[in-house]
Amino acid sequence: MSALHVDKLEKTYASGTQALKGISLDIPEGSFFGLLGPNGAGKSTLIHCIMGLAMPTGGKAEVFGHDIVKDYRAARSLVGLAPQDVNLDWFLTVEETLDYHGGYYGMPKKERRERTDELLEAFSLTEKRESRAMQLSGGMKRRVVLARALMHKPKMLILDEPTAGVDVELRLDLWKYMQNVNKKDKTTILLTTHYIEEAEQLCDNLALINHGQIIKTGTSAELKKHYKQKDLEGVYLALIGRDEKAIKAGKK
Ligand code: ADP
Repeated sequence: MSALHVDKLEKTYASGTQALKGISLDIPEGSFFGLLGPNGAGKSTLIHCIMGLAMPTGGKAEVFGHDIVKDYRAARSLVGLAPQDVNLDWFLTVEETLDYHGGYYGMPKKERRERTDELLEAFSLTEKRESRAMQLSGGMKRRVVLARALMHKPKMLILDEPTAGVDVELRLDLWKYMQNVNKKDKTTILLTTHYIEEAEQLCDNLALINHGQIIKTGTSAELKKHYKQKDLEGVYLALIGRDEKAIKAGKK
C-alpha cells in the first residue's frame, strides 16, 4: 500500500486559479519523497488538500488507504505537518508545545510524557525543555516545529519548504534531523522544496511539478539518465526551464 496515493486530484480556487490540474502520484511507504517545483507550482495546495485545509474540486487522494475527504479524521491522524512558517505559540515552553499537541490528538498523559522526552532527545532540545519558544534560536525553533509534527507518531511527515530562507549551515543541520526521522523511525516523508540541491541530497524519489501538473517522477538517477543530464539541476532546467530558475533566484 502507498503512504500517499493521489489520483487525478484537482483544485480550482474560487478566484478561478487552477492550482492543481489533475495530479497523480504514489509515495511508497518508508520513502523520502521530494516534490520539487518553482513558486506557484501548486505544492502548498497539494499539501493543504491532504491536510483537509483545502477542499479538492476533483479526483481523490488516500493516506494509507484512507480517503482525505470521506475518511478525513483517520487520514489526518496519520500525517504530521511541519508548515512553512514557524507558527509556534511564543509563550509556551518547548515541553508544553509538544504536550499540548499530544493532548489535541488524544494521547494519554503518560504516553505524552514519554514521547516528549524521546523527541526532545532526538532533536537535541532536552536542555531547552523549559525555555519559551520566543527565547530559542532560529534553528531550535525549526527543530521544535519538526518535533511537534511528530508528537502523535504519524506514519507520514510532511515538510513544506522546511529550510526556506535558512542559511547553509543551519540547512545542513536540519537535513541531518530529517534523515534520522526517515532512516531510524522509518517515517515516510513528503518534502516540498524549490531547492534543487535539497531534493537531490535527501530524496530517494522525486516528482517535478509545475503549473499544477506533475511533469515527471522517478529517482534522481533515473531522471538524470532519462534526460541525459549529469545532475538534477540539468534535469530541472530541461523540464522547468531557465526562465523559472532565473525568476526564482530573483534575477528577473
Ligand atoms: P507553491 O506552493 O508551489 O508555491 P501554491 O500551491 O501556493 O504553489 O500556489 C499555486 C497557485 O494557486 C498559484 O497560482 C497561487 O497564486 C494560487 N493560490 C494559492 N492559494 C490560493 C488561494 N487561497 N486562493 C486563490 N489562489 C491561490
